[in-house]
Amino acid sequence: MPEGHSVHRIARQFDRNFVGKTMSASSPQGRFAEGAAVLNGREAVSVQAVGKQMFLEAEGDVWLRVHLGLYGAWDFAGDILVDPTIASANGRMGQTNQRGTVVDDEILDDAGENSLASIGAPRRTRVHVRMSEQTKGLADEGLEWPPPVVGQVRLRLMTDITAADLRGPTACVLQTPEEMLASVAKLGPDPLVGDPAQNEERFVEAVRKKPTVIALLLMDQAVVSGIGNVYRAEMLFRQRLNPHTPGREVPEDIVRSLWHDWVRLLAIGVETGQMMTMDDLSPDAYRAAMASRDDRHWVYHRAGLPCRICGTEIALEEIGARKLYWCPRCQA
Ligand SMILES: [Zn+2]
Repeated sequence: MPEGHSVHRIARQFDRNFVGKTMSASSPQGRFAEGAAVLNGREAVSVQAVGKQMFLEAEGDVWLRVHLGLYGAWDFAGDILVDPTIASANGRMGQTNQRGTVVDDEILDDAGENSLASIGAPRRTRVHVRMSEQTKGLADEGLEWPPPVVGQVRLRLMTDITAADLRGPTACVLQTPEEMLASVAKLGPDPLVGDPAQNEERFVEAVRKKPTVIALLLMDQAVVSGIGNVYRAEMLFRQRLNPHTPGREVPEDIVRSLWHDWVRLLAIGVETGQMMTMDDLSPDAYRAAMASRDDRHWVYHRAGLPCRICGTEIALEEIGARKLYWCPRCQA
């Protein structure tokens, strides 16, 4: 499932390529035909990501709410104005053809993996971008315009020059402004939305009043927005915190450290497109980590392997119907 960093990256793409432009909308698959008819011909006014959900505002007080869920993805095609932060990140990891990579030789060459210097003004280029957690090794599908519809496209949004296809979302609905605000109000704080100090206090308060174990609280989108399975395991390890500690028994300074860590990790995730959760890597180790998930995490996906700190076998258990990885010794 895309964690919060992916959704923020998608929102940035919409901000650059759709906001301020008139959209055409359709539902090639038919399941969002009525909603698409409402959106069709309206200008995109604003976009924001909150946790794992994206809210796109169209003129006339219409909001589109999208939750990608486990299988959803957006594909961008056509003339893409690339976010310079995303472009640089793509350049850095371009050789590995990771998810969210701009699949375009021109960009990979321009901003090849060494080319941090290429951070700069946005550039226009014709590319095909897919943004999800599921995708691997995408090929450029060619530059036919409009792009051919492939698979079950719930919603296609287009400007004159850019197309975005949504497949497989958990939620894709239109909302009034009141409904949109109600949806956002149900979500826990997102480090990239709203007031930083208030966000931290909301998180601390929510965690410290609950008897629920911290491993479940971190995945509860009403407690904190955007954390998924990878960040959960890694954040708990980074605090050396036992996943079974009830929220109200986690010392306040550790709760605050968890929040500050999420602020930091999310920023890295949005910038690089990768859930990079290890620190202080040498340049070689950093490159390896960006290229391969196996080198990127402390405990996630490392069941049975020795802990990178103490050598104890990393444990695996199901909690909240998701796999949790942790070190029984470091996190005793
Ligand atoms: Zn350990």
